[in-house]
Amino acid sequence: MRNCEQIAKLLYQYIDRELTDDEHRRVRQHLDACPPCKHVFRLEEGMLTIIGEHCRKVSAPERLIDRVRQLSHE
Ligand SMILES: [Zn+2]
Repeated sequence: MRNCEQIAKLLYQYIDRELTDDEHRRVRQHLDACPPCKHVFRLEEGMLTIIGEHCRKVSAPERLIDRVRQLSHE
């Protein structure tokens, strides 16, 4: 069972290590099992590393969810 949208919502907090241990484990397990999400995660992680803290926008999680949806439907 996939819960890609839930995972996408947690992805930024995952990258920032702001999740509880349980949530962190859940996201990591999903990423291991779900290539589309893992692909998005790598893109976002790389982008955040390059851009840095100050450019993060509130709208980012919605963009993430859209991207996961697109990838999942290919
Ligand atoms: Zn997924």
